[in-house]
Amino acid sequence: VVLVGARLDSATYVRMKKRAAAEVGLHSVDVALAADATQRELLAEIERLNADASVHAILVQLPLPKHIDESAVLGAIRVEKDADGFSALNIGNLCLRGGDAPLALPCTPAGCVELIRRTGTAVAGKDAVVIGRSNIVGMPVAALLQAMDATVTVCHSRTVDMPRVVARADIVVAAIGRAEFVKAEWLKPGCVVIDVGINRKDAPERKAGYKLVGDVDYEGAARVASAITPVPGGVGPMTIAMLLFNTVNLARHARGLPP
Ligand code: NAP
Repeated sequence: VVLVGARLDSATYVRMKKRAAAEVGLHSVDVALAADATQRELLAEIERLNADASVHAILVQLPLPKHIDESAVLGAIRVEKDADGFSALNIGNLCLRGGDAPLALPCTPAGCVELIRRTGTAVAGKDAVVIGRSNIVGMPVAALLQAMDATVTVCHSRTVDMPRVVARADIVVAAIGRAEFVKAEWLKPGCVVIDVGINRKDAPERKAGYKLVGDVDYEGAARVASAITPVPGGVGPMTIAMLLFNTVNLARHARGLPP
């Protein structure tokens, strides 16, 4: 686990990931660099971990400080150790039909799809609407749902009349980072809603002064959807579970074992 700087949210995510790894008996190694560490220093650490045969998976906690080129850093991780599934080769293999399977899938998207699977929803032929098209969530979620034979529509900041698009969805995955943006009235009754967003909302009654909410108006949507993930406690824990899953698979791959 490579952490650069002292962002509180990143430190919390790293702590949660390490705790989960310890719970299932994975050994984790910390590399903590100061916020002003240079890109060269960070790349040297990644090279060291790349070369260490006792390390099966490398996670660089994002976001990195502004002066560091994120794609250069992610690109430096050997694909065989790509715990987050973000490498161009893994993403490429996810999007291509046929050919090699990715060695690891991006954790949050894989968690979303696992949650949908566990609802028992037959995905093939269903209309899925993914709101957001980021490299780490929206785009790979859309690719995964398409690989499961859903008919996928992707919405983003230039989409016109989003309520109309969302209204036909049997499956909605919201990943935009806007508090309670998706309204209950937009949803088709009985749809499955996966809420990826993590947003702060003022809550003066709370000691912290805020609470975490998703991209979907949970209270209203829960009355319309057949299944919906809460925030917090839904996609977040699944993301960590999929990180552990990737790590075990990469260790198996290193030993020549099937996933
Ligand atoms: P991001 O990189 O900021 O991407 C946001 C996407 O949403 C973009 O595609 C953007 O469109 C679109 N968008 C933004 N505002 C919009 C609007 N008003 N209408 C329509 N589309 C809009 O965000 P991200 O990294 O994908 O993360 C999304 C959310 O998920 C955040 O709240 C983040 O904290 C959360 N998240 C949670 C987990 C987890 O483990 N639970 C993991 C990762 C992220 P354009 O492409 O047109 O700009």
